[in-house]
Amino acid sequence: MPELPEVEVVRRGLERWVAGRTVAGVEVLHPRAVRRHPAGGADFAARLTGQRFEPARRRGKYLWLPLAGTGTSVLGHLGMSGQLLVQPEGAPDEKHLRIRIRFDDRAGTELRFVDQRTFGGLSLHDMAPDSADGLPDVIGHIARDPLDPAFDDAVFQAALRLRRTTIKRALLDQSLISGVGNIYADEALWRARLHYDRPTATLTRPRSAELLGHVRDVMNAALAAGGTSFDSLYVNVNGESGYFDRSLDAYGREDEPCRRCGTPMRRRAWMNRSSYFCPRCQRPPRVSP
Ligand SMILES: [Zn+2]
Repeated sequence: MPELPEVEVVRRGLERWVAGRTVAGVEVLHPRAVRRHPAGGADFAARLTGQRFEPARRRGKYLWLPLAGTGTSVLGHLGMSGQLLVQPEGAPDEKHLRIRIRFDDRAGTELRFVDQRTFGGLSLHDMAPDSADGLPDVIGHIARDPLDPAFDDAVFQAALRLRRTTIKRALLDQSLISGVGNIYADEALWRARLHYDRPTATLTRPRSAELLGHVRDVMNAALAAGGTSFDSLYVNVNGESGYFDRSLDAYGREDEPCRRCGTPMRRRAWMNRSSYFCPRCQRPPRVSP
């Protein structure tokens, strides 16, 4: 599942290779890839043809391509295995190619949506009402992400103190802060020496400020690791930033020594996922929430 840094790499690739280009034709090769577009594949193709892409935008893990002058956007859902690839025209089709978008220029490349498990897809949406940022309506409720210059730290910190929830749940709550997935939440909590079940109401303002700083640091590190991966011969904008390549401090390190204190790291089942933490550096809260 791609996290924010991976999606940002995709966005940059699309901005570089697709922005300003006009759609000449669309082939929908699998109906599931447009299932979020209720009017169906033929309608999706017809409405997209002739439109010009503006630079790709992102909020959290959501990515969209505004269509110039229409108030409409193509929203990309990467799901578990979705990829957006810019490929040379005539390159052999990928086995799991679902949607092909051709352009009316002579750049010699086309945009492909490839998805093995077909949880992802593309769909067309109008802009959310009152959205200064041009958000598609279906993601109008998604909060800004911590790398967004307009993210309001004070509002986030105040919301944390007011909510009766625990810190990892809050970090994964897309209406509060977007783009923080399971991996980066565990990494940031380890850096901040906070247990995932810590009630947010117990976090002082300096502690929540420190945590936010760590969230940004882990995301920026992943972004730096992945920022060049799209700039290759076979232009791959699927966002394989290699976050599994870089050394993670918490996620996936069960029974390995904590890089700070040497205590074996632990893994606990958590909301159908796992949480990795150091039992010494990240003490559980005294009273269970
Ligand atoms: Zn430790």
